Amino acid sequence: MLSDTHTHTYFSPDSKSNPVDNILRAIENGQKYIAFTDHFDHGIKCGKTDYNFDTEKRSAEIENLRDIYGKRITILNGIETGQQPFENIRDFNAKKLAEYDFDCVIGSTHVIQGLDPYERVFFEGKTMEAAYTILLETLIANAKFWDNYDTVGHFDYSTRYAPYENRTLRYRDFPDLIDEFLKTVIAKNLALEFNTKTAGRVEPDPDIWVRYRELGGELITIGSDAHRPELVGDQFDRFGGFLKSCGFKYTFVFSGRKPVAEKID
Ligand SMILES: [Zn+2]
Ligand SMILES: [Zn+2]
Repeated sequence: MLSDTHTHTYFSPDSKSNPVDNILRAIENGQKYIAFTDHFDHGIKCGKTDYNFDTEKRSAEIENLRDIYGKRITILNGIETGQQPFENIRDFNAKKLAEYDFDCVIGSTHVIQGLDPYERVFFEGKTMEAAYTILLETLIANAKFWDNYDTVGHFDYSTRYAPYENRTLRYRDFPDLIDEFLKTVIAKNLALEFNTKTAGRVEPDPDIWVRYRELGGELITIGSDAHRPELVGDQFDRFGGFLKSCGFKYTFVFSGRKPVAEKID
């Protein structure tokens, strides 16, 4: 199975997963790699808790797990950083990234105009067109504003929580904005993440992925965004097939910040 590049553990405030259980699940899946990408999201909280972790403590635990499981699977020490187009947040992020040589850095848009779409209030009084236009404008702003990351995490995150009947973000509805977003991702040599947690809830639009390829996009990652061990590698066979049908032959894993290709069977 393709390797999971996006999983959470109890170092994320919204997950209780023991890293050992994520590893065992990934080994059972037949993955070559598993990435731990716990949250660092400056400026928002999970209840009263910061989206942050103790880098030293977590890295020591990962080292220990590498000693135990390293012959069976490669464990990647990654991070999912939250992006907002503000300098103070970018500065905090740079400090966090300087604490450790992470293997892989996901940059994710969780907050749009100060609101997390997970809290449904973001959508109140907005048509789907209005909400998704703001989403795409924010994704473009973040992609242009941020550097020092490898993968654009779940660009379609907001659609998970959208209250509309057909909530798929479709290329044909926003071709200019989606082109601008994809072109920025490609120009910055970033990878685009296929997030199976979103795709499991909202049917993905193949046209976006086909267009990414047409524009020269090759780097893609696949991530479950598992907050529970049993969801590591969730639906990777199904969505690997989807990506193949969009013309991709490989997904990528970032190890030491460098892309490593894995063939889609
Ligand atoms: Zn996320
Ligand atoms: Zn995540």
